[in-house]
Amino acid sequence: MEQLKLTAQSAVVVHNPSNMFYLSEGYTGEGCVYISGSRRVIITDFRYVEQAEQQAPGFQVVMTDKGLGHNQWVAKMCEEDKVETLRYEDNYLTVRAFEALRNAVGDSVSYISLDRAPEKLREIKSPAEVEAMRRAAAITSAAFEAILPKIKEGMTEKDLQIELDFTMLKLGASGNAFETIIASGENGSLCHAIPGPRRLRKGDMITMDFGAKVGGYCSDMTRTVALGEPSADMRRVYDTVLYAQTICEEALAPGKTGAELDKLARDYIDAQGYEGRFGHSLGHAVGIDIHENPRLSYISDDVMAPGVVITIEPGVYIPGMGGVRIENTCLVTETGCEPLTTPTKELIIL
Ligand code: ZN
Ligand code: ZN
Repeated sequence: MEQLKLTAQSAVVVHNPSNMFYLSEGYTGEGCVYISGSRRVIITDFRYVEQAEQQAPGFQVVMTDKGLGHNQWVAKMCEEDKVETLRYEDNYLTVRAFEALRNAVGDSVSYISLDRAPEKLREIKSPAEVEAMRRAAAITSAAFEAILPKIKEGMTEKDLQIELDFTMLKLGASGNAFETIIASGENGSLCHAIPGPRRLRKGDMITMDFGAKVGGYCSDMTRTVALGEPSADMRRVYDTVLYAQTICEEALAPGKTGAELDKLARDYIDAQGYEGRFGHSLGHAVGIDIHENPRLSYISDDVMAPGVVITIEPGVYIPGMGGVRIENTCLVTETGCEPLTTPTKELIIL
């Protein structure tokens, strides 16, 4: 895993839990992380001390106490390390939290934005991170295969959500990467539908967007299946989304930009007569968080590189009728990409 490059007399303090997890290679508790040229420290309270020592053996762990809170610890270490510049997360700390930090540390140091340095390191996954994401994707894929025979007329979207989430946990997920989306029939036009009491009926298309979390890493997959023969109109929507997803997956490779890939899907979908019906962007990177950079969207100049793990998820949504989305989480390789989520994308008719 890449680490922050520090110059002498500079230190960083990190509060974003995902960045703390990344830099410490495993700490999941609260508090903050302080890294200078001479030490790497987790500052936390009594509840997490033992856990921090277990999860981040490369870090010194210090405990907050009366008169020695997180900011006072940072101040003490800045003084001992003769820190002149302290970098912090101006995209995460609230104004109030930053003021408290500055009041404690004082004006002998200058405060500089960390400028999303940890997030930028997180864009390229290490082999160990890819391994965790492979496991998360494998559980997600296996849960989908396991759920198919259980999808029956009359069950509710909520029933299906419970089955899927339960199956992922049983297969070894530590939890959900995000809240499972189930959208059936006309609800399919809601991209982020909350699974509800609607009962599945013959002729429905059912969109399932879900992902397991394993070892702190997320996966993200969507499949749309049909319960009985779908209408010709919905079949055409499906074929359009499938083709758009497939050409983008084939095109995903180092050097491609987010805008270029998004345009590929969007132009094709528009040309099929569904202009305006693909209202979200094509995809997003996945990792410790479910939505990370780089992005695939019409305004994204992000450039793909080996080690990026990113979704390709075009969709078409028609209010009153339904929707289709197909999504894979893909690892960008030296020459192209490898989908980590593996179930068939061909239409499954149950
Ligand atoms: Zn998704
Ligand atoms: Zn997604």
